[in-house]
Amino acid sequence: MDIGKIKNSIGRDIDSGYKKLHQLSRNLHENPETAMEEYKAASWLTEYLAQNGFTVEKGICDLPTAFRAQYGKGKPSVAFLAEYDALPKLGHACGHNLIAAGSVAAGVACRKVVDELGGSVTVFGTPGEELAGGKAIMAERNAFTGIDVAMITHPGGGHHVLMSALACQNLYIEYFGRAAHAAAEPETGINALAAMILAFNAIDALRQHIKETSRIHGIITDGGEAANIVPAHTAATFMARAVENKYLDELKEKVIGCFAGAAAATGAELKYRWDSVRYASMNNNVTLGQLFRANMEGLGRSIPLGDGTRSSGSTDVGNVSQLLPTIHPTVSIAPDSVYIHTRGFAEVAASEDALRSMLDAAKAMAMTAADILSSPEMLKKVQAEFRKNN
Ligand SMILES: [Zn+2]
Ligand SMILES: [Zn+2]
Repeated sequence: MDIGKIKNSIGRDIDSGYKKLHQLSRNLHENPETAMEEYKAASWLTEYLAQNGFTVEKGICDLPTAFRAQYGKGKPSVAFLAEYDALPKLGHACGHNLIAAGSVAAGVACRKVVDELGGSVTVFGTPGEELAGGKAIMAERNAFTGIDVAMITHPGGGHHVLMSALACQNLYIEYFGRAAHAAAEPETGINALAAMILAFNAIDALRQHIKETSRIHGIITDGGEAANIVPAHTAATFMARAVENKYLDELKEKVIGCFAGAAAATGAELKYRWDSVRYASMNNNVTLGQLFRANMEGLGRSIPLGDGTRSSGSTDVGNVSQLLPTIHPTVSIAPDSVYIHTRGFAEVAASEDALRSMLDAAKAMAMTAADILSSPEMLKKVQAEFRKNN
């Protein structure tokens, strides 16, 4: 077995599939579907994988737009994660059409690797990354049991192999007060808006004394009905984030303390609910990341490893990374001034240059899979690092 030859065949496979992969990426881009509604995307992607010899199972984990597509049997088992949800009103402003094309391309390019070396490759269709936390749900429902390593590459938002993602949970707040004429009988009212504003101020005060990498932010979604009525009801949505999963638990208690204090001060009744989905922080596997980086360099694409500490947003890939060795490199496809989740980024995500960058990353992912499938020692090293971190 010549690993160099195998890697060359991966490059050729993805190059020869370019037309079809471009069409897939464009179809997704032109038909943006939001979280958990990605019916067309899931059907196009599974069709492509089935045509290429993968065994496809749709609707896994009771999620209609999730899927598992497997080639080969047994261990080691490498997985590529595909995302394909778009953002409301903005379309593919997070470039998930490119992620889908890249992960599918990497999977198909690994067929030859599996044929020669054994093991298996699985492409997971993971819906609803934006806000719905599809992978968090799939992780909880044991979708990734038996998988040895997982990889996904995201376009834009930086250019580095190791990524930082904060543990994150949404919080839904309501205050119930008592309505009253704001001028005639204000003394009979209980002001639910006053409670909300106090709570916002308490959060601002709290922010000064928490770990600086943590984040707490929110909006008022109901602030009352009219200026001359004491608000009887207010509502807000908040998000709490932290680098460590454990610290998020501490932070959540402090945050609820702010809301409870404002309830006590005003006499309004507090009701709150933490979202059932919680995004875990990212646990980067550096050994796996170094393999990916070396394979990118081999393709003439330089990418820094990064230290994975720069505070950023959150991703449900974090939940996968807590279960098994995982990498989530970010590949730049746009100038630094074009940020993800903007119309400008959605435009870039349709370009052929962007696709070519992502397909090089797909080659590097597939080559990294070849490194793992060809070397039990390398897999052991990856697993040893994972155990050390957990
Ligand atoms: Zn996004
Ligand atoms: Zn994204």
